[in-house]
Order: sequence, then structure tokens, then C-alpha cells
Amino acid sequence: MTGGYEVEQFVETPDEDLICVICRAVLRCPVRLKCNHVFCKECILQWMKRQVKCPCCRQSIDQNQMLVLFKLSKSIGRLSIKCRNAQQGCRATFPLSNEYLHISSCPYEWQLCPHEGCGQQVLRKDAQAHDQSCCHWRQPCPMGCGTVLVRENQAQHNCYRDLQQRYVAERRKQRAIAANLRRKMQRMQSRMAQIRRQINLMCESLEVGDLEVEAGEGTSVWTDASDSSPSGSRHRHTDSRSSRVRFI
Ligand SMILES: [Zn+2]
Ligand SMILES: [Zn+2]
Ligand SMILES: [Zn+2]
Ligand SMILES: [Zn+2]
Ligand SMILES: [Zn+2]
Repeated sequence: MTGGYEVEQFVETPDEDLICVICRAVLRCPVRLKCNHVFCKECILQWMKRQVKCPCCRQSIDQNQMLVLFKLSKSIGRLSIKCRNAQQGCRATFPLSNEYLHISSCPYEWQLCPHEGCGQQVLRKDAQAHDQSCCHWRQPCPMGCGTVLVRENQAQHNCYRDLQQRYVAERRKQRAIAANLRRKMQRMQSRMAQIRRQINLMCESLEVGDLEVEAGEGTSVWTDASDSSPSGSRHRHTDSRSSRVRFI
């Protein structure tokens, strides 16, 4: 930071008392010497590198007796200034102390286009319009899919729609698989019912055969168990139907 504030930037011409004789600008961070002369702090420090006498009265300067004038600094800060971007069209005026605040949002401030390789200076107010036409424009997909969008693929890129379509297609496929499985199951069930019917028919025809046999031989078969029973005195009774499996 060197020198004071340019006189031209003030809305009203500042009082002569507020002008630093070294830089001929309005005092920035004013300091008073022992001799009561006031200068910008930076101006007098630079001056003292070459000379040790006050630029106004030639009295020798004692650096330890230099006083920073905070109150004066504050009242200078309250003076109205014009925006430094007046040439670009900004008509705003504000207290000097608010300059940083204004510049950080001034629509007429020059800005470097943020897209790599562009390098163009654009007024803040035109940044959006430039963004839409800048051929170096690139941006990660705002939906978070990770694709870096460039001018050429931006219009076609719609990862949300693609995802939705994939999801719908996947669901359709799943439903088709489920329906197919259901059909197979039904076929299997009817086949099983058919087999069951056939088996029952077979069983019934066997029963008819049994009855015919039983009608000829009696209802029970008596087996002589004397070979297996040590006592040889007991007979085992076997019902010929007890070992038959019934299918239901
Ligand atoms: Zn100065
Ligand atoms: Zn002096
Ligand atoms: Zn401005
Ligand atoms: Zn650009
Ligand atoms: Zn995306």
C-alpha cells in the first residue's frame, strides 16, 4: 500500500488539511510527527529511508515520537467516494471505508472468466451471459453423476432421465422374469396334479386287483414264522395293505 487516496475519487473535494504533502493525495493511515506535521504512514516511512528531516519544516524526525491518528483516519473513512468502476458505468457512491464491501459486489468490476483456457476479462454483470457463450465453459454435472459437462455434451446430457429410463427398463425386465416364473410354476403344478391323478388311478386299479385276489384267498395272509422265532410257537400276522403307500 503506497500513498494516499486519490483526490478525484472523492465526491466532494477534500479539505486541504487532509492532503499529504508527500503524495498529494488524501491521508491514508495518517501519522503525526513531533513537529505536528501529518503524513500518510507509508509516505513518511519511505521518506525516512532517504532523509531524516520533516518534508515541511526540516526538523529532524524521531521515529519513536510518531503518532498514529486513528480518529482522523476514521473521519476520512466516512468521506463519500465514487466507485472506481465509474468509467465502466458504476454510478454508486459510498463511504470510503465501505469500498471493499462495494467492490466485492460491484456489477461493473472486471473479472477473469473462471473457465480454464478462456482468459477473458468480463464485467461481473455480464459474467452470466459470457458463461453461456464461453467456448471454454465446463462444469461438473450438477446432478452429481461425475461427468464433466462441456458445451458440446451439455444439451444431450441428462443423467437423471437416463437413470430413470434404466430403472423403468430394469423393472419391466424383472416383471417379465417374475411372470415367466409364475407361468412355469403353474405349468409344473398342473403337471403334478396330472401325475397325482394318474397315480391315484393306478392305485385304484391295483386295489381292484387286490380285492379280486383277496376274494379268492381270504382277507389275511398268515405266515409261518417258526424259522425266525426262537419259540416257534407264535405266528406273525401281516396285512398285505399296510405296506402300500397311498398317494393323495
Ligand atoms: Zn501520502
Ligand atoms: Zn514538520
Ligand atoms: Zn461500483
Ligand atoms: Zn470465458
Ligand atoms: Zn449427470
